[in-house]
Amino acid sequence: MHGKKHQGLDYTPLFRFLLSKVGKDWTDIHSQAVARLDRPDPIFWIVALNDADKKSFVRVGENSYYSGLHVDQNNCLARVDPDLKMEDMKPNCSCCTHTFNGQAFTKKFEAT
Ligand SMILES: [Zn+2]
Repeated sequence: MHGKKHQGLDYTPLFRFLLSKVGKDWTDIHSQAVARLDRPDPIFWIVALNDADKKSFVRVGENSYYSGLHVDQNNCLARVDPDLKMEDMKPNCSCCTHTFNGQAFTKKFEAT
């Protein structure tokens, strides 16, 4: 399983776009995002629509992690866990490159 490349569309640019819009009006962001997508679902892979779906971080594919996002009471896009940092992210194996918001983890894999 490890190290395999998955076929299909790469939604990295979408997730980077969403992360760059944290703090901005969700209605605008949503319409801009939908305009550049073939389908709207990937937006909601990292943007939680209700409290039950909120996560500090979301895994997309095998080794790509992104900050979990949600829409706050002011209709602004926000991070679920604004305190989550790269240093908190630990890889679960040593053979793959794990990324958080598009950047490689700084922590190395540690066998426990
Ligand atoms: Zn691996």
